[in-house]
This record gives sequence, structure tokens and C-alpha cells, in this order.
Amino acid sequence: MGFTVAIVGRPNVGKSTFFNRLLEERKAIVDDVSGVTRDRQYGISEWNGKLFNVIDTGGFVNNSDDIFEIEICKQVKIAIDEADAIIFMTDAATGITDLDDAMANLLRRTTKPVFVTVNKVDNNARYLDATEFYILGFENVHFISSISGSGSGELLDAITNLI
Ligand code: GDP
Ligand code: MG
Repeated sequence: MGFTVAIVGRPNVGKSTFFNRLLEERKAIVDDVSGVTRDRQYGISEWNGKLFNVIDTGGFVNNSDDIFEIEICKQVKIAIDEADAIIFMTDAATGITDLDDAMANLLRRTTKPVFVTVNKVDNNARYLDATEFYILGFENVHFISSISGSGSGELLDAITNLI
């Protein structure tokens, strides 16, 4: 079994891009189309000599706002049930959206560690924008670029410290 980390977040924040970086085998499907139906992806990653399971919870059927909200609740509940730690991924390019707020409200209810991970912090200007995510009120906030890999080492250090 081992330690399991789930990546949750609304579509297009970069969950699968980060998941792919964590995996040696490129199993996750990454695409630009919001709302494409995808199953959950499971993988195994290693950092600091520690192995852990990773779940990419990208499976959405985004036909309507109602279904979307239901899917988000489901995704967060799966993550809380199956994971030992949760990466709550958000997007510095868009800032905090209503769906981020809705997910944050659900994630505040768990006692499991939640790592707010602001993705797409590709440059210093984005970093300044990204600090707004502290307002969500979570203890752990990390700034990463899944494309360049910057910041991901600090995030993985913090997560693997729990193992
Ligand atoms: P998901 O729906 O959350 O799984 O998001 P994807 O991983 O499919 O990525 C959505 C889009 O964001 C793709 O076009 C990615 O190339 C892009 N993306 C992912 N990470 C980054 C990043 O760190 N910086 C930038 N600029 N784009 C990113
Ligand atoms: Mg995805």
C-alpha cells in the first residue's frame, strides 16, 4: 500500500502535467481541452529515496455546472478517502476562481495534510500574483511551474517529510 498523494483541482490547472513529471512512465493524458472525460490515473513516484503512490484525479464530465460541482465533490471525497496527503492544485495565471473556493471549502474539512500548490508560476510576475492564494487560509502553500519543474523540489521535500 504505502503512502498515497492525490492531486485535486479544477480542470486545466496542470494536474496531469505535474503527475507526468512525477512518473517515469508517462501514463497520464495531458490535453488542452477542458472537460474531456478521463479516468483517474495511478502511478508510483520516488523522491529522496522514498516511494509513494500518486493519484491524478482528472476524470470529469463537464456537461453542466451542476454535474461539474457534483464531480468536484466526488473528486475531493475520493482524494480525502484514498490519500494520506493532498495536493490542491491551482493556477497562478487565472488566480482564485469560484471553483477553487468551493474546493477549498471541502478540503478545509479534512485533517489530512493539504498542500496548496499554485502552478504556472513560470516567472517573477506570476509569483507576485500567486501570493493571493495565501488568502485561502491553508498552512502549506507552494509555488511551482510544472513545465520547468521550478519549485517542485521544495513541494516534494515537504510531502516526503511526512513518510
Ligand atoms: P489538468 O486538467 O489539471 O490535468 O491540466 P493539464 O495538465 O492537462 O494542463 C492544462 C494546460 O496547462 C496544458 O496546456 C499545459 O501545458 C498547461 N500547463 C501545465 N503546467 C503549466 C505550467 O507550469 N506553466 C504553464 N505556463 N502552463 C502549464
Ligand atoms: Mg488532467
